Amino acid sequence: MEVVITADAAIVDGARGPTSVLAEAGKILAVGDPKDVLADPRAAGAGRIEWPHRAMVPGTINTHNHSFQSLLRGIGDDLPFLEWRDKALYRYSPRLGPDDMATAALFAFGEMLLHGVTTVCDFYYLNNQGNEHASATIEAARRLGIRIVMARCFYDWNGAPAAYRETIPQAVANFESLAAKYQDKTRFLTTVQPAPHSQHGATPDMIEAGAGCARDAGVPWHIHLAEERYQVDQSLERFGKRPLHAVSELRVDMSTMIAVHGCWFDASERALLAERGGSLAYCPGSNMFLGDGVTDLVDLVARGVKVGLGTDGGCSNNRVSVFDEMRMAALLQKVHRTDGQAITAETCFQLGTRTAGEVLRLPIGRIAPGYRCDLVALDLDDPSLWPAQALEKNVVYALSPRAVTDVVVDGQEVVVARRLSHVLLDEVQGRVARLTAGWGR
Ligand SMILES: [Zn+2]
Repeated sequence: MEVVITADAAIVDGARGPTSVLAEAGKILAVGDPKDVLADPRAAGAGRIEWPHRAMVPGTINTHNHSFQSLLRGIGDDLPFLEWRDKALYRYSPRLGPDDMATAALFAFGEMLLHGVTTVCDFYYLNNQGNEHASATIEAARRLGIRIVMARCFYDWNGAPAAYRETIPQAVANFESLAAKYQDKTRFLTTVQPAPHSQHGATPDMIEAGAGCARDAGVPWHIHLAEERYQVDQSLERFGKRPLHAVSELRVDMSTMIAVHGCWFDASERALLAERGGSLAYCPGSNMFLGDGVTDLVDLVARGVKVGLGTDGGCSNNRVSVFDEMRMAALLQKVHRTDGQAITAETCFQLGTRTAGEVLRLPIGRIAPGYRCDLVALDLDDPSLWPAQALEKNVVYALSPRAVTDVVVDGQEVVVARRLSHVLLDEVQGRVARLTAGWGR
């Protein structure tokens, strides 16, 4: 049950030298110099994982993704949004069944693990009025060993394919039965949270229903807001208010709200988000890929808003690395403000780890007693991490994904020597190739 993991260096609230972590049943009990941790009586008889020539860092947390979109990667890129939506998203996604969802999840989450993602939040809107798809996705995550937050969607916009839509009673009942089946309150390997899609994908009543389920379950809720400029115009037209102001007038608890994107939040909305204690899932790579706009991250962080990073779907980025999003967040904010000091590597590292855990309200994202033992090993012999004394800066600005060698989730090895431990990549490759043969023509 107990395990001691030892590496030559670590990022534990800043960089440090040789470090050991003692964990029991997936929970960190002690962190420190190897000789001290190994002398702990609780370490007697513990299993050992040795990471020589490697640095141990907290597992990264992907606060926003749509796993099925990995299947559409490269199909429909560089098109106007509505054309992409109709030719790629709406054309292929309604055909997918539970087994296809498992394929998508094995693909998306397997690739994420290899990039050092230990927790993924899957914002899941292809529910087909049931839970078979979401269940297949959760089971795929379990097979791989990645920690999953299933952000189950609440969606009732008539313009979308029928597979996305539900009535309010259907969405509530399905959310509750999925949560009853999978909510893991001990190890937090699976968490179910409601996700009213957006102002355009969910009616005000549907948004209130989702937020109500969050309140009843004691979990946060997710909603896409102000991603593209037209969504602000639409909100002004339909509700006479900007997106966040319109949502704040509903019967919802904004302190547990995770707004996704927020590219077009103005100063009054950023102030409101801070005042109500809401948080943000920030996806800089996707925002750039789609040409959405630039969220004022620097201002939100200064106001004390908790922010986590997300990759968004595999066909709107098209990478799945949170380390990459740390770099993207920093570069985008620096150029947006024409100020190389707009934000630091250390802040961006926190957004991908510690504060992302706070956003999802899970004990993850830090190497500290009481937190879940989710760790990534980085190869100190990889030139992208040289010179070694600038570890944290180099992890954010220079890291090559090639340097990710090992991954532990909840004290269990899920990537060893750059290979998935529980699923063969050949199987995933075969499934993806069979499923997508002929797509995009
Ligand atoms: Zn999204």
